[in-house]
Amino acid sequence: MSLKKINEIINLIRKNNKFLITSHVSPDGDNLGSVTALKLALEQMGKKAVMIIDDTLPSSFSFLPDIDKIISYESDMEVDFDLCFILDCSDFKRIARVEELLADKTIINIDHHGDNPSFGDYNLLGDVAATTELVYQLISEIEEIKMDKEIATAIATGLITDTGSFRYSNTTAQTHQIMADLLTYNVNTAKICKEVFDTYSYASLKLKGKVLENLKVDDSGKVAWIKVSQDLLKATGSTLEDADGLVDYPRSLAGVEVGVLFKEVEDSTVKVSLRSNYYFSVDKIAHQFGGGGHSKAAGCTINDTLIKAEDAVISTIKKELSQVN
Ligand code: 5GP
Ligand code: MN
Ligand code: MN
Repeated sequence: MSLKKINEIINLIRKNNKFLITSHVSPDGDNLGSVTALKLALEQMGKKAVMIIDDTLPSSFSFLPDIDKIISYESDMEVDFDLCFILDCSDFKRIARVEELLADKTIINIDHHGDNPSFGDYNLLGDVAATTELVYQLISEIEEIKMDKEIATAIATGLITDTGSFRYSNTTAQTHQIMADLLTYNVNTAKICKEVFDTYSYASLKLKGKVLENLKVDDSGKVAWIKVSQDLLKATGSTLEDADGLVDYPRSLAGVEVGVLFKEVEDSTVKVSLRSNYYFSVDKIAHQFGGGGHSKAAGCTINDTLIKAEDAVISTIKKELSQVN
């Protein structure tokens, strides 16, 4: 990530007035933090910015400034804009139907995934912990933008969520230095962590109990996985959103290198979350199933039954693991 690229993007921002900001489906703290931080920053420059995502938003991020201004994509919607920012998307397809709004518009791609193919007309890519780290670097170079509590909260949320509260190996000295600066704007980190990591609905705790009861481990003890079926959601009165974060449990089992969560989104649609601890690159597995991500956190969607998705992914992991061990 170079200052030259940052300056090119700043020039584009200065020359244009109306921006569309979008990001990936299955929204998380990093993409929602990036989208809202950039929107607030552009507004400080007197620009107009509309935020559109093709999904519903998880309720746990309702503390983010202006999150209620993010519009859910609707077919045939009309949006007037000059340039589009795509944030935190390793793959252009992850913006889903927002693609229909873009036609031949210029795309600025800002992302931290190692497998990002530079799909934008302008690409600000960096091997950093969170996309909000890149948004921070971009807006720090624009004199007229004054960091404030709201923008700092949005950027901090991306750092906190994508590093698992600064515990994952993607955390660097720079991540901490940025966080130290953000804290001078009175970001309420205790509240962010409580809302994101430490608040569960009754139904989601029930779901967690049932899911953990059925935790599976392979013979080697290195692969563990859990499943959330539509039947289980009905039985516990929970929703798919309640399954967020459950993938950390199979990974946390002592001796396990790879943890997997299978979520039955609907009949024959299974969302797979993959995590690893030390040496196994789960993005390689995700790529084999048309997905992507980082080496220690990746995902994909498989159009098949839960049991077939489970068989296919677990056997692929076991095969790859036997080659690295
Ligand atoms: P999660 O398992 O939390 O949904 O995603 C973990 C990581 O993998 C995130 O960085 C996310 O962007 C990426 N990821 C998840 N699903 C997909 C997918 O279907 N395609 C791609 N390219 N990346 C994904
Ligand atoms: Mn993300
Ligand atoms: Mn991210």
